[in-house]
Amino acid sequence: MGENAIEIEGLRKTYAASGSQPPKEALKGIDLNIPAGSIFGLLGPNGAGKSTLINILAGLVRKSSGKVRIWGFDQDVNPRQSRGAIGVMPQELNIDPFFTPRAALEVQAGLYGVPKSQRITDRILKAIGLEDKAEAYARNLSGGMRRRLLLGKALVHRPQVLVLDEPTAGVDIELRQMLWTNIRRLNEEQGTTIILTTHYLEEAQEMCGEIAIINHGEVIARDSTAALIGRMDAKTLVVHPETPVDPLPQMPVGVDVARRRDGALAFTYRRGEISTGAVIEAVRNAGIVMRDVATQEPDLEDVFVALTSNRKGAA
Ligand code: ADP
Ligand code: MG
Repeated sequence: MGENAIEIEGLRKTYAASGSQPPKEALKGIDLNIPAGSIFGLLGPNGAGKSTLINILAGLVRKSSGKVRIWGFDQDVNPRQSRGAIGVMPQELNIDPFFTPRAALEVQAGLYGVPKSQRITDRILKAIGLEDKAEAYARNLSGGMRRRLLLGKALVHRPQVLVLDEPTAGVDIELRQMLWTNIRRLNEEQGTTIILTTHYLEEAQEMCGEIAIINHGEVIARDSTAALIGRMDAKTLVVHPETPVDPLPQMPVGVDVARRRDGALAFTYRRGEISTGAVIEAVRNAGIVMRDVATQEPDLEDVFVALTSNRKGAA
C-alpha cells in the first residue's frame, strides 16, 4: 500500500456541454498524494473543483483522464477494491424519505456486499446518536439527523478512507461538535484517513494536519497547515496608546501603520525584514506611550485570501 491513502496523477475532468452551457474544465491536471492516517483538508473557493475531485474518488463522477489510486488500488484496474476502501459523505442530502435509518444502513451495507453477520448497524446508529430514531422514517428526521445518517451510511463497510464534502455547512454548533468528535475518534481509534472540504477555515486550521488549496481546477498549495500559515510573512503589532495619536507616526520603510476603530494602531511588517523589537523601538522613538501592546500572527484565512485572490501575497 505504501504510506499514501490516495494517489492522484494528472487528473482531469471536463464536464460535457449541455443545452446552452459550454463544456466546463473542472479539473486541469491534479497531482496529489494524501498520507494514510491523516486528517487532510481540501480547501478552495466555490466552483474550484473540490466536489468534482471527491466525487471522482467516490466513483460518482467519471474522470476524463489521469490516475487515481485508493489504498493502493488503481480505480481502473481494481474498481471494486478501490471503491471498497473509501466511504463518502456527499455534500447534498440525498436520503430516501421512505427508509428508516436502520433500513438505510442495511441497504447501504448490502450495496457494498457486507455479509449480514459482519454488519455493524447498531454500532453506527449509536455512534451517530440515532439509536432512538432507528425505526423513524427519514422524512421525519431533522436536517441534522439526516446529515448524521449520511455519515453513518459512509461507514457501513468500515472504509480505510472517509471523505466528507462540506460536512458542517449549515449545521448548528452542537451537531458540528458531534460530527467532529465522531470524525476525530475514527481517525484516532481506527486510524481512518479523513479527507474533508470545508469553507470554515478556522475549522480546517483546527482539524487538519495537512491542506491542499484548489483554485480553478488546480492545486495551488499543498503543505502542512503550520507551514502554510508560516509562509505568511506578515505580522501585526497592535499598540494601544496612552493618549490618542494624530497624525499617524512616520515609520521605517516596510512598516505599514493603520488606525483601528478602537483607537489602537496596527503596525504591519514582514518578519523576514524587520524584527518586532525594532518596530517597538520605532514606535517609542515616535514619542508614543504604549498602554498595551500585542502581536498578531496570520491565520489560515490570511493564507487563503492571499493565495486565491490574484495578488501575490504569500509566496
Ligand atoms: P466546488 O465543490 O469546489 O464548489 P465543483 O466541483 O462543484 O466545485 O464545481 C467545479 C466546476 O465544475 C464549477 O464551475 C461547476 O459549475 C462545474 N460543474 C460541477 N458539476 C457539474 C456538472 N454536473 N455539469 C457541468 N458542470 C459542472
Ligand atoms: Mg462542492
